[in-house]
Amino acid sequence: MANLIDKILELSGQNLYACYQCGKCSGDCPSVTQMEILPNQVIRLLQIGLPEVALQYNTIWICASCYTCTVRCPRGIDPSKIMEALRQVNLRRNIDYTKIKEIKEEEIYILPQIALVANFRKQTA
Ligand code: SF4
Ligand code: SF4
Repeated sequence: MANLIDKILELSGQNLYACYQCGKCSGDCPSVTQMEILPNQVIRLLQIGLPEVALQYNTIWICASCYTCTVRCPRGIDPSKIMEALRQVNLRRNIDYTKIKEIKEEEIYILPQIALVANFRKQTA
């Protein structure tokens, strides 16, 4: 599992071990009500060597990359980059959150195009 943690450290460029679990990132996150676990809990799972568990939750996909956590963290950590690294790990395994082929045709027409494009840019390999 060390290799996967090393990969996440490399992809994110963040020292997740500097996190002392103050919770400020989660407290100010605008997407947190839709997340199965909090952003700081994702980081904690990584700290204790459980990246595969962290990858299972929707939190990494729901993260909107708004960078609120980035400016709030007192330890200079950028949790949004950690979320992005975890998305990249999943996408490289061909695991996606949004399945394009499962979006109904009528939904394609009524959903805001900008939202669809933004979603695919972030969540689709
Ligand atoms: S704000 Fe920073 S130090 Fe606090 S829990 Fe989030 S990542 Fe960790
Ligand atoms: S970047 Fe993601 S985790 Fe951080 S505050 Fe925004 S939505 Fe929440």
